[in-house]
Amino acid sequence: METYDLTISGALQAIGSGQLSPVELTKAVFKRIEAVEGKIKAFVTIAKESAIEQARSAEINIKKGVKGALAGIPMAVKDNLCTEGIRTTCSSKILEKFIPPYESTVTKKLKEQGYVLTGKTNLDEFAMGSSTENSAFGATRNPWDTGRIPGGSSGGSCAAVSAGECIAALGSDTGGSIRQPAALCGVVGLKPTYGRVSRYGLVAFASSLDQIGPITKDVRDSAILLNVISGHDLLDSTSAPVEVPDFVSVLGRDIKGMKIGIPKEFLIEGMDKEVDAFVRDAIKKLESLGAVPLEVSLPHTGYAVAAYYILATSEASSNLARYDGVKYGLRAEGRDLMDMYMQTRAKGFGSEVKRRIILGTYALSSGYYDAYYKKAQQIRTLIKKDFQRAFETVDVIATPTTPAPAFKLGEKTEDPLQMYLSDIFTISVNLAGVPGISIPCGFTSGNLPVGLQLIGKHFDEESILKIAYAYEQSTDWHKKRPKL
Ligand code: GLN
Repeated sequence: METYDLTISGALQAIGSGQLSPVELTKAVFKRIEAVEGKIKAFVTIAKESAIEQARSAEINIKKGVKGALAGIPMAVKDNLCTEGIRTTCSSKILEKFIPPYESTVTKKLKEQGYVLTGKTNLDEFAMGSSTENSAFGATRNPWDTGRIPGGSSGGSCAAVSAGECIAALGSDTGGSIRQPAALCGVVGLKPTYGRVSRYGLVAFASSLDQIGPITKDVRDSAILLNVISGHDLLDSTSAPVEVPDFVSVLGRDIKGMKIGIPKEFLIEGMDKEVDAFVRDAIKKLESLGAVPLEVSLPHTGYAVAAYYILATSEASSNLARYDGVKYGLRAEGRDLMDMYMQTRAKGFGSEVKRRIILGTYALSSGYYDAYYKKAQQIRTLIKKDFQRAFETVDVIATPTTPAPAFKLGEKTEDPLQMYLSDIFTISVNLAGVPGISIPCGFTSGNLPVGLQLIGKHFDEESILKIAYAYEQSTDWHKKRPKL
């Protein structure tokens, strides 16, 4: 096995036993970045110098006996998480030169545990998209087929993990942006319960839906990172004051008798045949491990995408009002103040971001509010209730993560509606605020990864991790690596 292919737990073991040093590991990862980044383009900013320095200090700390949970582990961070002193662009021209004066809560926690930041990863501008093609700095490629998209919006983070350009990464998920690219890149992506992880320092897209989560090579690493980043934070009033269990301790526990709901509404027309078959096989596998599959109904699923695109764009139109050329970011010249605002926003935002600001502004405008925003909120409540009802009879819900494997670059850029449909299985999870994980469950005949999504009750990441781990340990999908 190549050093860059190590998992967090594998690397910690190798470091702990003295076989590998953080500096060696970090150098191996940078050698890999130098070899494959030209093909993948996962990063907006690569932070080699500071990474080697962080690896050195992790090494010194380990010698002193101070052991962080991530001491010396090279990780990539999505470029919508603020990192003090390191450019944070959201893959937008408007923030191209923005250097945050503060650190996000999650990266602060990673720092405290001794992680090494390899760089900031590419995304769809302001996390709006499903393919990482909406980046002002160019598209990221799927490591399994560089003619295809890696998914999005955390496509840079997922491609980097899959290609061995980091040991693990962080992403954000508003409607599927961790789980969908994780599925398409053959890695593990977890969106925690809304409120589980502080959003302080995450550049806001749709604040009532955004969550930060781990992107890893296996389920154990996902639990390790969730342990580090979870918890109440006074700097984010929407972070929940709930206890954080040890997510690693549930791994390996028996799943016998656990009830797995299969929503009948998720077997949609137009599903890719191979994806459908792999997901059904995965459910059979879980059954052979002692879990009990049961049909459930989430009757309002069909309205999820429509409601999401009203709510997410409404929140985005309000959140993105702050980019006006005055406080920070790009500033274009104008004849007067109004003209300066208009020039700045016209030059700074890409077309998808503009489309959403316009849609959201319209949905919130007086006279339309009741017809759109209020209606969408009512649908959101119904979707939440669907999940509550289903979870009265089952412990977790299983679905495909995406309706199809990775599509070709450029295939959907002209058709936003087609693009929006890539998140048909992930969006309702954000609307309900419940946790969801995507794990690899097969490879198509074209050697493209397929993902299984497991959805849990509010604050019950333990059940989905436990089942994901049991499945993973009885299969070999997670061990496959792309040939680059
Ligand atoms: N693809 C969805 C969108 O474009 C979700 C993005 C996300 O989760 N950040 O809004």
